[in-house]
Amino acid sequence: MYKLIYKEIKKYDTIVIARHIGVDPDAMASQIALRDAIKLSFPGKRVLAVGTGSAKFKYMGTLDKFENISDALLIITDTPDKKRVDIPTFDGFSAMIKIDHHPFVEKFCDIELIDNNVCSACEIIMNLLKNTRLECNSNIAKTLFAGLVSDSNRFLFDSCTPKTFEIVAYYLEKYKFKLSDVYETLYLRPLKEVRLEGYMATNMELTKHGVAYIKVTDEIINKFNVDSASSGNLVNNFNHIEEILVWVTITEDVKNEIIRISIRSRGPVINDIAEKFNGGGHSTASGAKVESFDVAMELVDALDKRVEEYLKKIKKEKVEKLEEE
Ligand code: AMP
Repeated sequence: MYKLIYKEIKKYDTIVIARHIGVDPDAMASQIALRDAIKLSFPGKRVLAVGTGSAKFKYMGTLDKFENISDALLIITDTPDKKRVDIPTFDGFSAMIKIDHHPFVEKFCDIELIDNNVCSACEIIMNLLKNTRLECNSNIAKTLFAGLVSDSNRFLFDSCTPKTFEIVAYYLEKYKFKLSDVYETLYLRPLKEVRLEGYMATNMELTKHGVAYIKVTDEIINKFNVDSASSGNLVNNFNHIEEILVWVTITEDVKNEIIRISIRSRGPVINDIAEKFNGGGHSTASGAKVESFDVAMELVDALDKRVEEYLKKIKKEKVEKLEEE
């Protein structure tokens, strides 16, 4: 598959690299690193990384304007379904390639390299570069590492396997970038965001079976002088709290007239529930968009039922194990 993708990249003079809407570091890093690697390997090609930018991830590199596309190759990273690709049109492309680590949603590309057992899209790009003649340098390696570290929440998830550590070790050894350079940019944040986190921790509510949720209204967003993406970006910081198995940020986005939801879990599967609320994602890290706080609370109720079932199952398994012994 890597060789097939390399052959396609070699064939086209214009290549566009897109990723999902609601950009995050893995999506941004995978597209920018792939663009820069192709440019480094084939300086004559026109290679564009497109999509809505984010000032927060500017340190990874700049995005390109989407214009005058014909007979081009489109590569989409970190996106399982067509409707979430952040691109104005699919016209002008002669071929499409998907490179993704989400659970499969739909086939919409000619070539699809999907591995949902890896922690990040960046891990797949790392393997693509290593297994083909695509070139890499210290800066590209650093960007890929940043995306991988971010999506794995610093190697916290079971999707980090020996293979993850092997590929990271290979890149660190070969391209010798400084870890502190990565962490300083990836984790540097303004004090107002820390204060918002304090607000969220203080005002978080808990359902009967251990789903924590926090409603962040437009008034709160303005009070802390942050944007509507900020609370969702903080969701990973509420992991490993004894009383909480699933936790949810529910944020009012007045500009887009939606309620943005981010969900995380320490066990129960949540993405099938997110899918029922105009969302999706990974089994324990999902997002959704709903029209009101009331609908968001229906989602919270569904999650509470899921946690209840999960706890019952765990209890039953424990009893069965004790009886066996
Ligand atoms: P987030 O909470 O925004 O960091 O998203 C967690 C995961 O869920 C990521 O893999 C996203 O791509 C996915 N996701 C977030 N929002 C949606 C949505 N509305 N529809 C489908 N997938 C989503």
